[in-house]
Amino acid sequence: MDRLTEITNNINKILKRIDAACIRSGRSADEVKLLLATKTVSAENIKLAFDAGQLLIGENKVQEIIQKYDSLSDIEHETHFIGHLQSNKIKDVLRHNVSCIQSVDSLKLATGLQNKLELYDKDIDILIQVNTTNENTKFGVSPSELVKLVKEVALLDRIHIKGLMTIGLFSSDAAKVRSCYRLLKKLQLEVIDENIDKVEMGILSMGMSDHLEIAVEEGSTMVRVGTAIFGKRVYPDSYYWNEEK
Ligand SMILES: *Cc1c(COP(=O)(O)O)cnc(C)c1O
Repeated sequence: MDRLTEITNNINKILKRIDAACIRSGRSADEVKLLLATKTVSAENIKLAFDAGQLLIGENKVQEIIQKYDSLSDIEHETHFIGHLQSNKIKDVLRHNVSCIQSVDSLKLATGLQNKLELYDKDIDILIQVNTTNENTKFGVSPSELVKLVKEVALLDRIHIKGLMTIGLFSSDAAKVRSCYRLLKKLQLEVIDENIDKVEMGILSMGMSDHLEIAVEEGSTMVRVGTAIFGKRVYPDSYYWNEEK
């Protein structure tokens, strides 16, 4: 089988899984977008996914965005940033047409973004990344601090909050994974309840290759899928979520 056929088949399988989960939970399939998590995937293979009709990608590393930028620029597509963003890389993200940063989890990062956005006279969409795992992992605002952070970031006029993102627990225990996604949905409703000026909560970015059905059942509007489409990566995920490495 050639690589295009393989990637196309994999994408079709994912779309079927999303459809089935939507049907099971009484949702319409067009409520859930597919974002291709393309860390470590070559521009060549990303282009095959474009050929298969998928034009929304997410990158974890600024360096990879820069490396692939020229090869991908002839095909119109959308890039989100889904990794941990260091302040000194903000300018590179803004220079490379990233339309949404899904991983904003501190006022410090948001303020850094606002400053650079003013400098370049740009705006950007973001999601607030929440740590739903109840563990001392590094990334994501804790649930108890979410509303405060949303209120603060909402005051930065170049930044448009569009929803929430979470990674959730790495576990084969479906019930534990589900509780992370359920928490993000609950937090979304809490933020909506606060009626904060200029804050939109339409996007819930949650669900990856392994448990995307659970995420859809719990209200995901965007699943981020890499492995099930492009195959296994060489390094563990922790490597790609840490921009410092
Ligand atoms: C790698 C990654 C994904 C996709 O994970 P897979 O298990 O490969 O589907 C989703 N979200 C983020 C933030 C990622 O880094």
